[in-house]
Amino acid sequence: MLDALLADTGGAARIGVSGSPGAGKSTLIEALGLHAVAEGRRVAVLAVDPSSARSGGSILGDKTRMTDLGRDPRAYIRPSPTSGALGGVARRTREAVLVCEAAGYDLVLVETVGVGQSEVAVADLVDLFLLVASPSGGDELQGIKRGIMELADLIVVNKADGDLADAARRACGELRTAVHLLRPKWPGWEVEVRMSSALTGAGVPELWTSIKRAHERLRADGSLDALRARQAVAAMWSEVTDDLLERLRAHPGVRERLAELEDAVRSGALSPTAAAHDVLTRFL
Ligand code: GDP
Repeated sequence: MLDALLADTGGAARIGVSGSPGAGKSTLIEALGLHAVAEGRRVAVLAVDPSSARSGGSILGDKTRMTDLGRDPRAYIRPSPTSGALGGVARRTREAVLVCEAAGYDLVLVETVGVGQSEVAVADLVDLFLLVASPSGGDELQGIKRGIMELADLIVVNKADGDLADAARRACGELRTAVHLLRPKWPGWEVEVRMSSALTGAGVPELWTSIKRAHERLRADGSLDALRARQAVAAMWSEVTDDLLERLRAHPGVRERLAELEDAVRSGALSPTAAAHDVLTRFL
């Protein structure tokens, strides 16, 4: 099916959205989505949820989310796949992005919880990465791992309203300083740090404009095509690696010796290198 759809894919802006639980990702995605829908776009929201891969439960999927956007016929919200390892979940999400594009969605938002691994997986399947930070009384930067900040193309400090407005301004300043110290992801690219309130809607239209502008810039100078080409080849290799490993584990000759080999490695009777060689010899 994916092969049949392939010619109709590629038409969406693929935007990753990440941030710690409670930063306001869902609320902000809904606000952005409603804004985009009002402009005539068709919006799909997908999720990569590392908790679901581990436990079958989910941080993202269990709550009732984005009810207004979910009711809009121009929007589609897909709960996080709840089985398989993170790599598998990310892979199926990549395929879901393609199906959404073939179905005519021209904005695909891929949400993920900010715990590290899943950001890296999502960064490999989107065009742009939006990091949602929240003002949290002084230590704004502490919760954001450097690695995640390096993935960000845009940062928004959400909850810039009411009592949190001052803290949001401070966080914004700190983040602007911090991103200056990072190597730019693209030559000449300045990571924009903005503020928003998903609750009141303040800053949301401006954020949407920034996202569109950044995406257009990537498209105009050819970076987007190059990025997607790299991502497609990387996806091919991750399919190959995963599939190969699955087949290797299922191979009868390997299976019957595996426990024994692991024991021997555990006890130090056999070196990991020799055991690996044995496994591969049996498989091949
Ligand atoms: P997520 O876990 O990152 O998806 O966060 P949610 O979107 O579920 O929001 C977590 C909590 O923060 C909810 O109670 C929201 O109502 C609240 N929230 C989200 N955005 C804002 C905002 O801009 N301002 C304020 N004050 N609260 C917000």
